[in-house]
Amino acid sequence: MLLRHRLCRRPPDERLPFISRKLADPLVRKKQHSVAAAILLLLSQLITSAWSPTGHMVIGEIAKERLSNNALARCTELIPVKVPPQKVKLGTKMVDVSTRTGSFVTACCWADDVRSNADREVHYSDIAFSADGTTPQVAPASKNIVKMLEDCVTVLKNPRASKTDRATKLRYLLHLVGDLHQPLHAASRCTDEQPGGDRGGNDFPVVGAANLHSYWDGGVGLLKTTIARPLTADGMAKIAAIKAQVVAAYPESQAASAVAEKDFMKWAQESQELAKSTAYADLEPHDAPSAAYMANAQRVVRERIALVGYRLAELLNEIYK
Ligand SMILES: [Zn+2]
Repeated sequence: MLLRHRLCRRPPDERLPFISRKLADPLVRKKQHSVAAAILLLLSQLITSAWSPTGHMVIGEIAKERLSNNALARCTELIPVKVPPQKVKLGTKMVDVSTRTGSFVTACCWADDVRSNADREVHYSDIAFSADGTTPQVAPASKNIVKMLEDCVTVLKNPRASKTDRATKLRYLLHLVGDLHQPLHAASRCTDEQPGGDRGGNDFPVVGAANLHSYWDGGVGLLKTTIARPLTADGMAKIAAIKAQVVAAYPESQAASAVAEKDFMKWAQESQELAKSTAYADLEPHDAPSAAYMANAQRVVRERIALVGYRLAELLNEIYK
């Protein structure tokens, strides 16, 4: 527990050398098994995906239907461009990423498929808040999702940028707009026990999921369906079914004023507010979410998935107007 608390106050990429030093010490060698177990637990906690791949593909499907002819043509031209890395290790297998992410809809999953320690910070912006009056002690990150999205737009609007650079930034943009609407990608809960924050709920255990963050990645149960890529007819039907459900719950006609908000920082603040009011709500670590919590959280998940699909289309239509 002591090790865990010490680790939690450091950015994740600084934690591993600390563990390596411990392992090198002969006095603690007999504890290698328990330390190795702690490393595995830690690594599993570092792997966060934001909405599940299914969630990202539903967002892509909603956006694709709303693209202008020009935006669709430009995306269709850039998505087949090969960008590094071509292959990544998923589980024990080397996987060809371009095959898995070769369409507009599956390209929305690319940034999580290729995610590494070098770029993980661009998937979130943990805006700290205090749950108990403790002053947050969160070190500012050198990269964050808002800065990365602004960079993506700049490159995509620059006709002198290389095709590879534009193709890469399009792939990031398709994914990160989705991530920014997962409330726990824009919040970190600080308490007296965790003044450095809980890393967007990754260090907030809940009953029924690995932690609060992964509970929300799965859309509080709505986005847990696994869909094979490249998409089959069955996979497309599953995406269409979830899309119909979320669009019916939050039609575009009701979302007009929210779609008109185009400031990435405002999107982040909106997510942080929803994290406080709906994701953390009145939960305490190790709680089991109540039926009322789940009903409210699922309503918010449907609205966020629909809204971000509308906003993604609007953003691409503006970039390629
Ligand atoms: Zn992500």
